[in-house]
Amino acid sequence: MTPISFEFYPPKTDEQRAQLDKAAARLKLQNPEYVSCTFGAGGSTLSYTPETVERLHKTHGLDAAPHLSCVGGTRAELGELLERYKAMGCHRIVALRGDLPSGMGHTGDFRYATELVEFIRREHDGFFHIEVGCYPECHPQADDAHADLRHFKAKIDAGADGAITQYFYNADAYFRFVDDVRRLGVTVPIVPGIMPISNFSQLRRFSDACGAEIPRWIGKRMQAFGDDAESIREFAADLVASMCQRLVAGGAPGLHFYTLNLSKPTLSVISRL
Ligand code: FAD
Repeated sequence: MTPISFEFYPPKTDEQRAQLDKAAARLKLQNPEYVSCTFGAGGSTLSYTPETVERLHKTHGLDAAPHLSCVGGTRAELGELLERYKAMGCHRIVALRGDLPSGMGHTGDFRYATELVEFIRREHDGFFHIEVGCYPECHPQADDAHADLRHFKAKIDAGADGAITQYFYNADAYFRFVDDVRRLGVTVPIVPGIMPISNFSQLRRFSDACGAEIPRWIGKRMQAFGDDAESIREFAADLVASMCQRLVAGGAPGLHFYTLNLSKPTLSVISRL
């Protein structure tokens, strides 16, 4: 069985908390290896990730991995958070640079994820299993694709144990990325990040911002369905499930689902696998 993991974001309202509880309870039945919880940059949102990790762990009995990002947190703040996570029983961290929200000037003490990985290793030795992000279709701010691969390798050399990719809808981009980094000597598992499609126009906006490419033909097919929501859901689930099957058949060591705190889109993909 291919290991699966689910990513959630920290809810801020009671209504969102209820939505997370519902999704976590349903998705738990799929026996995930672990779940992860994203990290908002800066100010009050900093506090929602630990609270959510605790909820996933205590209320739902899930092995929860917090995301931690350089942006918005000083060395001391990130150090305190790591201690807190250790005390909660977390053993896995997803270490990222993060993106600066518009209008926020504070970048924190670390500039790149590599520095955060070095910091975690220096302060906590081998205690945490560290995952980092990677970009089969190239990070949007990378100078060029080769530089992006070298920067990725630097994160692994700094002590990361594995990587989760940005989502994509072109399996060949993943296979090429894995081949490229293997040639550079990277041996850690690289787990594809899978984004089930629930709201196509929202996905388009997301994808523009994070540099994930939606192949033109998928957009055209979506457009052709018009308001036929049921056909859109079926098409999207078939499409993502067949990509997952190809990825697993081609050697992907696991599947990490971006759930957006919804269970249905992810379950409709898993049920087809
Ligand atoms: P880095 O690895 O630091 O790379 C960022 C850019 O800098 C790349 O273009 C890289 O090529 C370049 N670079 C790296 N090192 C150097 C160097 N030494 N010199 C010059 N250039 C360099 N964001 C959040 O805010 N919260 C989250 O919880 C979150 N979760 C995520 C989970 C996953 C699995 C992924 C893939 C992304 C996630 N993100 C999250 C988004 C992520 O923070 C952004 O994509 C961000 O822009 C880059 O983060 P990174 O850790 O990959 O950065």
